[in-house]
Amino acid sequence: VRKIVGHWTRGAGGFLNPSRREALEAVEVAGTLEEVIKAISREESGPVNTVATGARLKDSCVSHGQLHEIMGKNGGAYLFVFGTGWGLAGEVIENSRYRLEPVTGPDSYNHLSVRSAVAVTLDRLFGRRG
Ligand code: SAM
Repeated sequence: VRKIVGHWTRGAGGFLNPSRREALEAVEVAGTLEEVIKAISREESGPVNTVATGARLKDSCVSHGQLHEIMGKNGGAYLFVFGTGWGLAGEVIENSRYRLEPVTGPDSYNHLSVRSAVAVTLDRLFGRRG
C-alpha cells in the first residue's frame, strides 16, 4: 500500500496527476483496526464509534437516516469500516458500535465493489438533498 501511495504522492504519478496526489496525500496506512482507532483517538476526544458495513448485514442494523440523525445529535468520531472481497470478519462486525443497513437498489443483487459502496454510503449519509 505504501509503495502504491508513494507512487502517487512522491513519485511520477503525483507529478502527472496532481488531483490524485491530493486525494492520496490523505491516506494513512495502519497494520490493524486497533491502530486506526488509536490514531483517531489521538486527534479526537471521546470514543471512536465504529460502523460496520456489508452487503449481507441483517440483524440490529441502523438505517442511513438513523445514523445521520445519531451523528448530528451525538457528534463524536465515526470510523466506517469497509471490507475486502469476502466482506468484514465476523469479529469486526460483532465488535462494531453500529451496523449500517446494506445499500440496496430495485432488485435483490447488491454486492457492490468497495469503491461503489463507499461512494453510495457517503452520499446517503452526508450528501446534500434537494
Ligand atoms: N460479499 C461481500 C459482502 O457480503 O459484504 C461484499 C464484498 S464487497 C467486494 C467489499 C466491501 O464493500 C464489503 O465488505 C462492504 O464493506 C462493501 N459493500 C459491498 N456491497 C455493499 C452493500 N450493498 N452495502 C454496504 N456495503 C457494501
